[in-house]
Amino acid sequence: MKTIRTVPDLRAALNGPRRAGRSIGLVPTMGALHEGHLSLIRRARAQCDQVVVTLFVNPTQFNDHQDLAAYPRDEARDAALAAEAGADVLFVPSPAEVYPRGFATTVTVDEISAPLEGAQRGPAHFAGVATVVTKLLNMAQPDVAFFGQKDAQQVAVIRRAVRDLDIPVRIEVGETIREPDGLALSSRNVRLPAADRHRALALRRGLDAVRACHAAGERDATILAAIGRAAMAELAVEPEYLELVDPDTFTEIHSVGDEPVLVAVAARVGDVRLIDNDILDAGR
Ligand code: AMP
Repeated sequence: MKTIRTVPDLRAALNGPRRAGRSIGLVPTMGALHEGHLSLIRRARAQCDQVVVTLFVNPTQFNDHQDLAAYPRDEARDAALAAEAGADVLFVPSPAEVYPRGFATTVTVDEISAPLEGAQRGPAHFAGVATVVTKLLNMAQPDVAFFGQKDAQQVAVIRRAVRDLDIPVRIEVGETIREPDGLALSSRNVRLPAADRHRALALRRGLDAVRACHAAGERDATILAAIGRAAMAELAVEPEYLELVDPDTFTEIHSVGDEPVLVAVAARVGDVRLIDNDILDAGR
């Protein structure tokens, strides 16, 4: 695996394979790699000839300076894990490489970006995500880019930006990888103090309660959400949001019908902000 730090070097490394007709897969990450990331890298490895993993803690998508400062960074560890999972190239640009002096262009995706994560983290969050992902897609020009279902709203924002801007890439989504007890893997989990680790299960408990209530026949979104909140309260966790939305548009759902519905939840457990989601499907 080669580590590359500049856009010209990345282009140079990928030119040969591209000309030879080899497919390129891109896995964007902010590092602190865990099984969730590695599952995406292995998926890319299985489908593509050249696997590029990017490692960039994107400052523009953080609304909280402390969160950005506290974000775990360990390039040597990430490089070893990415190589073992099958990456050919680790792209680690500096902030100045991504945002050179005079940088003035932002990709904003209206509507989908506004509720839930957008409302909690502010409008700059998804603008930061959409802009950096658009840039990474332009830098590497992959055939396929891989993202995790754990960040469901991010997936919807990226899919829409790719469609609206005619970016020639296929977006593929990998399932959420979890700890054995159900906690979704996140780079932020390492910051959970032992005393809060158990309470972090509240998100999954809330989603499970919604799922069980839906399976028992409840269709009213307000009631389903209230059941989820009550299950979280048992672990003394109050969600920032727990809502049922359309998985493509992120508009609120009032009643669950035959179409799949996304149940999205976010909560602070101690100092750590966690998110998770589940899909309710009439067939499941
Ligand atoms: P991040 O480094 O948090 O920006 O995440 C990089 C990619 O990994 C994103 O596409 C995430 O959705 C994905 N990801 C993060 N956590 C998980 C997880 N537990 N399971 C699957 N994918 C994940």
